[in-house]
Amino acid sequence: MKGNKLTAAIFLCLALACDTVAGKSFLSMRTPEPIVKGPGITEVKMLSEYFPKLKGTNGDTEIYVIKGKNPGGSMLVLGGTHGNEPSGLLSAVTLIENAELNKGTLYVIPRANNSGLTHNDPQEGSPQRFTIKTPNGERWFRYGSRATNPLDQWPDPDVYIHASSGQQLSGSETRNLNRGYPGRQDGTLTEQVCYGITQLIKTEKVDVSIDLHEASPEYPVINAMVSHEKAMGVASVATINLQLQGIQMALEPSPTNLHGLTHRELGDYTDTLALLMETSNGAQGRLRGKTDENLVVTGKDKMYIKAAKLGRLYVPYDENGHPLEERVGRHLTGIMEISKAFSKEKTDKAIEIINVPTYSDLTSKGLGNYLLEAK
Ligand SMILES: [Zn+2]
Repeated sequence: MKGNKLTAAIFLCLALACDTVAGKSFLSMRTPEPIVKGPGITEVKMLSEYFPKLKGTNGDTEIYVIKGKNPGGSMLVLGGTHGNEPSGLLSAVTLIENAELNKGTLYVIPRANNSGLTHNDPQEGSPQRFTIKTPNGERWFRYGSRATNPLDQWPDPDVYIHASSGQQLSGSETRNLNRGYPGRQDGTLTEQVCYGITQLIKTEKVDVSIDLHEASPEYPVINAMVSHEKAMGVASVATINLQLQGIQMALEPSPTNLHGLTHRELGDYTDTLALLMETSNGAQGRLRGKTDENLVVTGKDKMYIKAAKLGRLYVPYDENGHPLEERVGRHLTGIMEISKAFSKEKTDKAIEIINVPTYSDLTSKGLGNYLLEAK
């Protein structure tokens, strides 16, 4: 009997020790990565300033404002809609730390679904963090989940019914920010974040909104721009100019019967020109091999080279992979070309962004070269 009690006590202590280690690691994901205010930042707001109900929740998130020296149009860039698609977050951070505006105003939300970055998807083996070398030391970033953290929104219904259209999707999509637009004041936390972003666009009369994403290399809509019909003119000019620079970009019209997504609902419910861009991220693909920080940053994967040889992918894939600097380079060049195409069409609402590293700057010098020193 005495022996049994001793064994039980030892196992209890071991279990508590394991819980402490796992709990500490899980809680560490709640700490946001440092983002440094670059020379262009004129103000940092919170989304709750546009929808106060978000205050004090994990849905509240920072909006970095870069107001130009001269008046003009306005643009919103959303990074981190899906926390497991790091080029969106990193493109937003690169804009925040480098961009300045000659004309107009740029709003950047690096962590659109902040809650999604506080955990990662079970059974995926994803790293919790990844690091990027810079001339001033390493910078770390979280690798999050596609969905809002269940600690912030639970349980999922069996069927998710999109509020304004009645569209039915799998229950887990209830926590997908890019299925919740235009959002609801009295909805789930995810719908409330969507509502806050829609309110920001309406209040600030944002002319152009760009949502940054990544997809697995075997997904058909990849290295692509998805455009609401109202944005098609600007998107067409931007796509042609990207191709002229050797950056292959497909242009896809936003399907009218697929609801809850930025490129559909923000275009339908506000006056903004709504666009979304996708780059290739092997770390979220289903054909990938070892899933670790290296795959997230370098995009190199033996299994994808094999899949490419078998003709199973929608992007070229070789031993060079698709490193983060290339994916960020695609997004940033896309943003620049969209702003130029819009400014040409609406000369009185020009958005002139400067000091953003180009695709070749990023691929030749590396992403770390454009990240500031985190204090
Ligand atoms: Zn996505």
